[in-house]
Amino acid sequence: MIPPIASNFVAGETPAAAIEHAEQTSTRDVGCILNLLGEHYEERPPADADADEYVELVADIATSPATACVSVKPSQIGLDLGDDVFAENLERIAMAGAEHDVFVWVDMEDHTTTDATLDAVEELGHATDGNVGVCVQANLKRTPEDLERLAEVPGKVRLVKGAYDEPKSVAYKKKARVDEQYRDLLEYMFREFDDGVAVGSHDPEMISFARDLHAEYGTPYEVQMLMGVRESAQFDLASDDVEVWQYVPYGDKWFQYFYRRVRERKSNALFALRAVLTG
Ligand code: FAD
Repeated sequence: MIPPIASNFVAGETPAAAIEHAEQTSTRDVGCILNLLGEHYEERPPADADADEYVELVADIATSPATACVSVKPSQIGLDLGDDVFAENLERIAMAGAEHDVFVWVDMEDHTTTDATLDAVEELGHATDGNVGVCVQANLKRTPEDLERLAEVPGKVRLVKGAYDEPKSVAYKKKARVDEQYRDLLEYMFREFDDGVAVGSHDPEMISFARDLHAEYGTPYEVQMLMGVRESAQFDLASDDVEVWQYVPYGDKWFQYFYRRVRERKSNALFALRAVLTG
C-alpha cells in the first residue's frame, strides 16, 4: 500500500485508483493525464504487459465520467529493446486511444531517444488524425528544428524544460539559457501550431507568458502540471477558465518516483520529514 505521504504525488497502485482520482479532479475542472509508472525494460514481456495495460486503461477511461487521457514513456513499452518494438506497442495504444477518443501523449526521455520517438509520433499523428501528442524539451539544442517538423504533424505538443542530465554537446546547461529557449519556443508554437500548445511547467513566469501569447495569437493552449505540485495554482487557473491537466502517475513502482519528487525540492523533503516525524 502507498503511504499517505507518497499519495500526494501518486494516485494509487491500480488503474481503478488512478481513474477514481481523475473523477474527483475532473469535478474541479482539471483533467488528468494518467501515467503507469515503469521505464527501461530490458525484456519484452513487461514492455508488452504495460502496453496492454494502457490499451485497457483507455477503454476504462472512455466508460468513466473522468476527463482523462494517458501519457506513455517510450522505454516503458520497449524502446530499449528496439525501435520496432516501441513503434508496435505505441501503435496499439494509439489506435485504442483513437477508437475510444482518449488522447495519447508520449513522454520524451533522454536525447538518444528523440529521433525514434518523433518518428513514431509523426506516423501515428497522421494515422490518428492528431489524437497523439509528444513532449519536447527546451534544454535540447535540436528542439527548434524538431518543432518545425512537428508543426506539420497533426496533434498537440507539450513543451517542458527537460528532466534529463544531458551532455553539453547537445543541451544547454544553464537555467537562464534553458528558460530563454523555453520562451522562444513557446512563442514559436503559439505562432505556428494550429492544434494547440501544452505548457508543461510549474513556472509562474512561463504560465503568465503563455497567457500573454494566447491573448496575442489566439492559439488554444493548456497548462500541464504534476500531481502534488502547485495544486492550488492548478485549481486557481482552472477556475480562471484556463484548460489545466494534471499529470498523474500510478502503479506499484511508485517508490522511485516519489523519492525523485522529494529530492528535487527542499519544501517537499521537509514536508515528507514532518509527516514521518508526526507519524
Ligand atoms: P523549474 O524551472 O524547475 O522551476 C521554475 C519555478 O516553478 C520555480 O521557481 C517555482 O516557482 C515553480 N516550481 C517548480 N517546481 C516546483 C515545485 N515542485 N513546487 C513548487 N513550485 C515549483 N521532462 C522530460 O524530460 N520529459 C517529459 O516527458 C516530461 N513530462 C512532463 C510533464 C509534465 C506535465 C510536467 C509538469 C513536467 C514534465 N517534465 C518532463 C519535467 C520537466 O522537464 C521539468 O523537469 C520540470 O517540470 C521542472 O521544470 P518547471 O518548468 O516545472 O520549473
